[in-house]
Amino acid sequence: MTPTPELQTRAELSDILRKKGFRLTPQREKILDLFYQLPEGEHLSAEELQKMLRTESSDISLATSYRTLKLLASLGVLRELDFAEDHKHYELARNPKSPHHHIICLDCGTTDEFESDVIMQFAEALAKDRGFDIVDVQLKVFALCKQHPVEEDRSSKGH
Ligand SMILES: [Zn+2]
Ligand SMILES: [Zn+2]
Repeated sequence: MTPTPELQTRAELSDILRKKGFRLTPQREKILDLFYQLPEGEHLSAEELQKMLRTESSDISLATSYRTLKLLASLGVLRELDFAEDHKHYELARNPKSPHHHIICLDCGTTDEFESDVIMQFAEALAKDRGFDIVDVQLKVFALCKQHPVEEDRSSKGH
């Protein structure tokens, strides 16, 4: 069993890649740099990443972005997040020992993050019971943010 690493430095990162038979190519490095520069709590889709790369006049193709994101997620460097949209989002796996969770507005896509000991304790007990080793824990709460309050009588709308 390989322990999940904490937020990796560049050197550690290239080590992780190398051990699994991958090189830290300039493209992979560039993409990781962008993730390291993101404020905590921001998530990027492949399309958003591509847009950021383009403003820095990088010639990394969308296909390469997709492949790199998938690869880094499979190595545990990035977390792949599925917010029930038509594309996935990614973020750095900053602290795998205390993973955070997300609440997502189904209307505008605003997300917020939270940590919870209760959820971790539950996940640990569940995994232990079944003989699993936890790699990541992600709870998603789908909701409507304050900007889109649930209308009290939606059914009578339009009458
Ligand atoms: Zn997050
Ligand atoms: Zn909203």
